[in-house]
Amino acid sequence: MIFVAGDYQNSGTAITWQHLRSGDSALAAMEQGIRAVEANEADWSVGKGGYPNALGEVELDAGVMDGRTRTSGAVGGLRGFLHPVSVAYAVMERLPHVLLVGDGAARFADDIGAERADLLTEVMRKNFAQWQQDFGRSNGSVALIEAVSRSADPQRKDETTVYLVQDGKGDIAVATSTSGWAWKYPGRLGDTPVAGAGFYADNRYGAAACTGKGELAIRTGLARFTVTLMQMGRSVQEATQEALQDLLRLPDIGTAELQLHAIDAHGGHDVAFIGAAQGSDWHFYYMAKDQDETPIRCPARRVTA
Ligand code: ASP
Repeated sequence: MIFVAGDYQNSGTAITWQHLRSGDSALAAMEQGIRAVEANEADWSVGKGGYPNALGEVELDAGVMDGRTRTSGAVGGLRGFLHPVSVAYAVMERLPHVLLVGDGAARFADDIGAERADLLTEVMRKNFAQWQQDFGRSNGSVALIEAVSRSADPQRKDETTVYLVQDGKGDIAVATSTSGWAWKYPGRLGDTPVAGAGFYADNRYGAAACTGKGELAIRTGLARFTVTLMQMGRSVQEATQEALQDLLRLPDIGTAELQLHAIDAHGGHDVAFIGAAQGSDWHFYYMAKDQDETPIRCPARRVTA
């Protein structure tokens, strides 16, 4: 049994671990832990309390994948519902589809009786007002496209929730949830709801999931690529190394940040990253067989060109 989680999602890790220890499946256990993160207003990059888009609306993305069958479910740009991870799970379980977005995702959430919530907190209302002022949006002097492309993403370090699990039966699964980039252009999807980009799981080889600049993971099919490398015989460390080095060859990579989490089918794991400034390295949470409920926070491995 093994559980790897991205940094800053500690509010859900003990819950997921408890469920795993009591014999729940990987997906059921991850759903319970991620729901706690989504409901935690203090987490500014996931669920309620997440950063809004450039119009001040909180749009949530989430995805799940079952490594036994490689079935997947995801939602993108979901507004007004508290638990996108559960809606994504229900897409997988109840529809012949993989990804629902926007109004259709909200309609489906309503159909299944998902919990509604006002996702924009007072803190974020204030942050949004400040952003509008800083980027010339309060008086409309700067066009939306212009303001979005000028503003940096302040939340990358807060990260998407990514959970990767191999449960007591040896089954592998992955789940993700995020509010995406702060001040993103409305309708922007990152990698988090895109199977193969932000997440991928295959019982035979392992799983991978990304946080950071999602556009890069979409362009390179990063999670799938990482698992494919394991399929081709690389160790989990070789796979993350090679996948990130490939990313570093993108001509516009600049100082972009991305963290790649992976587990293999034999209890191995590796978390590696590119781009964070020296001295501000990234971490992740790790739990394995027989461990009590205290997650261990470990430093991730830096990859350079
Ligand atoms: N990967 C997420 C996205 O691009 C953001 C993050 O992990 O911070 O939406």
